[in-house]
Amino acid sequence: MPLRAKVASSVSRTAAALSRAAGRGDGSVIGGWIGLKIDPELLAHLAAGRAIALISGTNGKTTTTRLATAAVGVLGKVATNSFGANMPTGHTSALAKAGSTPYAVLEVDEHYLAQVLDATDAHVVALLNLSRDQLDRAREVAMMAQLWRAALIRHPELRVIANADDPMVVWAATPPANHDQRITPPQVVWFSAGQRWHDDSWVCPECGSTIARQDNQWWCTGCPLRRPQPQWSVEDDGVTDPTGAWHKVQLQLPGTVNLGNAATALAVAAEFGVRPVDAVLKLGSVTSVAGRYAQVEREGRLIRLLLAKNPASWLEAFDMADEAPTLLSINARDPDGLDTSWLFDVDFAPLRGRQVLITGDRAFDLAVRLDVNGVPFQHVRTFTEAIQATPPGRLEVIANYTAFQDIRAELDRVL
Ligand SMILES: [Zn+2]
Repeated sequence: MPLRAKVASSVSRTAAALSRAAGRGDGSVIGGWIGLKIDPELLAHLAAGRAIALISGTNGKTTTTRLATAAVGVLGKVATNSFGANMPTGHTSALAKAGSTPYAVLEVDEHYLAQVLDATDAHVVALLNLSRDQLDRAREVAMMAQLWRAALIRHPELRVIANADDPMVVWAATPPANHDQRITPPQVVWFSAGQRWHDDSWVCPECGSTIARQDNQWWCTGCPLRRPQPQWSVEDDGVTDPTGAWHKVQLQLPGTVNLGNAATALAVAAEFGVRPVDAVLKLGSVTSVAGRYAQVEREGRLIRLLLAKNPASWLEAFDMADEAPTLLSINARDPDGLDTSWLFDVDFAPLRGRQVLITGDRAFDLAVRLDVNGVPFQHVRTFTEAIQATPPGRLEVIANYTAFQDIRAELDRVL
C-alpha cells in the first residue's frame, strides 16, 4: 500500500480502538470516517489483492453475510463487517482492522452498492431482494433496481448471484436491451430463496404491465421478463446445488427464510471454489447475528428475539417464529420510520391461535391493526410484565428496530 494509505489505515484502527475503549460502540464508523478523510482512496487500497464478495438487498443481508463468511472461511481468513456497519466507512474500518486476509465478505447497504463495487473491484456480488424499507421510502424500490442495473453493467468481470424469485432483482441483474453489445454483461447465477412479500413487485419494471404469479413461477404479462431457472434452490431442509446434488443444511437459525440465506451463502462460497459439501458444515456454527435470533432464558421462559424492520421482514418473522406466545413491539422513532400505516400492509393472520402480547411506543397502532385483522391480544407495558403474562416455555419476541434495541437493553438489565 502507498504510504498515505498505510498511515490512514493505522489511524483508522487507532480511532476505532479509542472509540471502543470509550464505550461508544465498536468504533467502525468513526474509524472508517477518519481513515477516508486522510486518504479518500483508502477503501480501494485496502481491497486490493483480496478476493471480495459483496452482499446486498433490503432484507437478510446481515445474516447472509455471516453465513457466507463462515462458508468462505473453509479457504482461509475472511475479513467482514460483522457489526452491520454496511456503508463505505464500515467497510474501510473492517478491512483495516482485519489486516491482510486473502478474502473478504462485506454486507453493503443497497444505496451504496455502486460506490462499493467501484471502490473494491469485488469478484462476486449477491443480490437478495428489493422491497420498501419504510413507507416514506417506498418509491425507492424501482429507482434502486435501476441503480443496481447501471452499476452491474460497468463491471463485466463480476459474478452476480441473484434471487430468481424477486422480479425487481431479476430485472436489475439483466442487462438492458439497448446496452452496448461490445460490453459483455456480468455472468449471473440464480438462486431461489422464495418471496413472501409481493406488494412492491406487482408492476413490471421494464414495461409497466402486471406481473402474474402461479405457484413459484412469475412472469410479466407484457414483455419477456420472467422467472429464470434457478441453479441453487431450497428443498425440504436442504439446498440443491447446480449439479443437482442435495445437501442437508443444519442451521442454528430458524425458518425457511434462513435456508434461503444459506443457499445464497453456498452459492457465494462456490464462486471462490468452496465445495458445498465442505461449506455446509460451517453454516451450523452461526448462532445469533448482531443479537438477532439470540435466545435467553428467564424464569423458565426461553425467549427468542426476532427483528422485523419492514413489511417483508414481518412476514419472514412469522415464518421463523414457533407456534408459541408472541410479544410484538413497535416504535416509530427516526430509524424506524415515523409513519406506522404500513402495519395495514402486513397480514397478521398467521398469529391467530397464538397468545399475542403487544408493547412499544406505538402499541396502540398495532392494537387497531390486530383488531381489524381479528387477532386477539393483550397490552403489556414492560418486558417483565410480558414474562408474567405468559406460561413457562418458548416466548417469541418480534420487534422493529428501536423496539428491538429497547428490549435487548431491558433484557441485559434484568438478566
Ligand atoms: Zn414487462
